[in-house]
Parts: sequence; structure tokens; C-alpha cells
Amino acid sequence: MRFRLFLVLFLFLSLNLYSVPQKMLAAAYKNKTIQRPTIVLDAGHGGRDQGAKIKYPYLEEKRLTLSAVLYTKKYLEQLGYKVVLTRAKDYFVPLKKRVSLANSNNAEIFVSIHFNSCPNKIAHGIEVYYFNSQENKIRARNSMNLANCILSDVIKKTQAKSRGVKRGQFCVVRETNMPAILLEAGFLTNPQERDNIRKKLYLEKISLGVANGIESFIKKYS
Ligand SMILES: [Zn+2]
Repeated sequence: MRFRLFLVLFLFLSLNLYSVPQKMLAAAYKNKTIQRPTIVLDAGHGGRDQGAKIKYPYLEEKRLTLSAVLYTKKYLEQLGYKVVLTRAKDYFVPLKKRVSLANSNNAEIFVSIHFNSCPNKIAHGIEVYYFNSQENKIRARNSMNLANCILSDVIKKTQAKSRGVKRGQFCVVRETNMPAILLEAGFLTNPQERDNIRKKLYLEKISLGVANGIESFIKKYS
């Protein structure tokens, strides 16, 4: 019995010890005495590069990625992060330019948002890619952790099917210097998923999931 009391007291004290620095940190962020990390958000495609296109109902991937990125920016700024966008409107940005934007802004995290398509209309769900660099294993591991955090929070918010975290060679995740991921936030070719993605509320859920995932990655690994 005495041991149990001791255990409860120990747990209480250790939880409090943990929460005090967390509270101080939150207050410091709020008062801007600590600069929160810079996040680069990349809306896939743009301008003449429309990305995946659906005729009925008419949908262009480049517009959906931009909406999702703008919502994500709003949520991240509410959490106190500095956000840099590779594009804030509908124009073409070469992949190399997106990479140099991230590398020159000393960004701590890079997130690219896309939507998927597949000749098989049954394919659905959300997946996240990272580059498994052999030269920089620390960045590879950080990118994988970031991918897991974002996927888990996006699935939690959207209730979509998880297709897992995958290794990819996309230029924007391969050439950037910081932990970087590319989110494929659902299939425009799947009728049910497409109906969800067309709704503002669902895009907001994806974006909130991305922002929460970034926050949980930073809390857990930095
Ligand atoms: Zn795309």
C-alpha cells in the first residue's frame, strides 16, 4: 500500500517536472523570446503544370495543393511558426527553385503537398514519401520520423486509409538539406476520396493533420 502511494506521488511529481519546462517553452514562444523553426510548405505543381486533372467534376491538382498549403500555413502560424511558401498563387515554379528556396531560408522542415491519381479507380488512401539518403543518414532518419508523425496525424484527422510511409526519389525531398517529406493526400481518381477532397472541411482536416504532425515531430525529436 505504502509502495503504491509512493508510486502515485512519484508519477505526480515527474509529470509536473515535465510540464513546467513545456509551459515555460510555450510562454516563450508566445512572447516571441524564442524563434520557432521556419517551415517551408510546397504546393505541388502550379501554372502550366496542372498536376493530376479530372474532367467530371473538373478538378486540377495544382489548385487543391495550393488550398491545402494555405490552410496549413494558417494553422502553423497560429502555433507560432514562421512559414515560407514556394508559391502562394497559381504560377509555375521549377523543382530546383523550390529546393533552393528551402535551402536558402535555413528552413528546419520541408513539406510538399500533392494529390494522387491512378488508372485503377479503386486505389485510395494517403501516403508519405521521404528520401532515404545514404550520404546523410541522420537527415534520412529525421525525414522518416517526420513522415511518420505527419501521416499519423493526417490519418487521425481525416480517417482515411493509411498507405504508409514510403521511400521516394522526388527532387524536392532528395535535394533539400533539412528533414523533408512529400504527402500524397488522397486519390483524385477514386470517386469517394475525390468527393471528400473537393470539400473545404476535408482539406482543412488534412492541413490540420500536417500542422499537428509537424508540431509532434518537433516536440518528440528536437
Ligand atoms: Zn502531384
